[in-house]
Amino acid sequence: MTFHGKVALVTGGTSGIGRETAIQLAQAGAKVVLAGRRTEEGGLVVEEINSNGGEAVFVQTDVTKEDQVKHLIDETLRHFGRLDIAFNNAGIEQLGPVTEFTEADYRKVFDINVLGVFLSQKYEIPAMLKSGGGSIINTSSIVGHVAMPGASIYIASKHAVEGITKTTALELAGQGIRVNAVAPGAIATDMIDRFAGAEGSDNRQWLASQHPMGRLGQSKEIAAAVLYLASDAASFTTGISLPVDGGYLAK
Ligand code: NAP
Repeated sequence: MTFHGKVALVTGGTSGIGRETAIQLAQAGAKVVLAGRRTEEGGLVVEEINSNGGEAVFVQTDVTKEDQVKHLIDETLRHFGRLDIAFNNAGIEQLGPVTEFTEADYRKVFDINVLGVFLSQKYEIPAMLKSGGGSIINTSSIVGHVAMPGASIYIASKHAVEGITKTTALELAGQGIRVNAVAPGAIATDMIDRFAGAEGSDNRQWLASQHPMGRLGQSKEIAAAVLYLASDAASFTTGISLPVDGGYLAK
């Protein structure tokens, strides 16, 4: 898969799935813009890409702030002149029983996981139309498809990502922009450390056992699916949410 001449934007590119996807996109020839709030981590990813012959820049961005998202797209165009691929991946988790969440919990999770995707798409789409089309991939989850107890706000937010993805796909189907989601199972990242505990913990082993393949996924396995959805190999694919989940949703 090659992305030479293409420009890709990755939100939540400072760690985990976003970091790995940014690296794979750069290895495949794309110029990459990374976004996130942590400048040090963003700088390290840029350094890793650039020292391996790729081309990347970091733009510090909080995806819940419209002026910062607009600035991110402006900077993408200023650096690289176009936008072809956008991976809207920034997200946070929140655990707890439904009766114990606060309004502030709800707003925090929905602001990042849903408003963040909405604002990102809003400014990405005009830039992509100017570039002659493109591909948007939003990060959903297996819990965008089904529920589990103990994370109602997070799960509702990922169901919302599914709805935004499908609607935007329909709105843009005739304009050369494909819009899809990737729906990871449990993937070994910082988020899963927070969600289920460190390597070897009972919670983590239980979570792995819920996946028919009997293990957690790796960020590189999600990145590979994102690159497929971003590529011309997926030229007739829009409005889907692709599970990458070791069989979780087949149960
Ligand atoms: P992670 O390592 O914690 O990555 C989360 C990323 O989101 C970080 O780069 C973080 O960057 C960014 N982010 C959070 N809030 C942000 C904000 N307000 N503005 C900009 N960026 C923000 O966890 P991950 O597992 O790679 O998660 C990536 C995505 O995958 C999330 O959407 C998550 O819901 C989804 N997902 C993960 C799993 C899993 O099992 N790991 C499963 C299904 C779906 P900064 O902190 O630098 O801002």
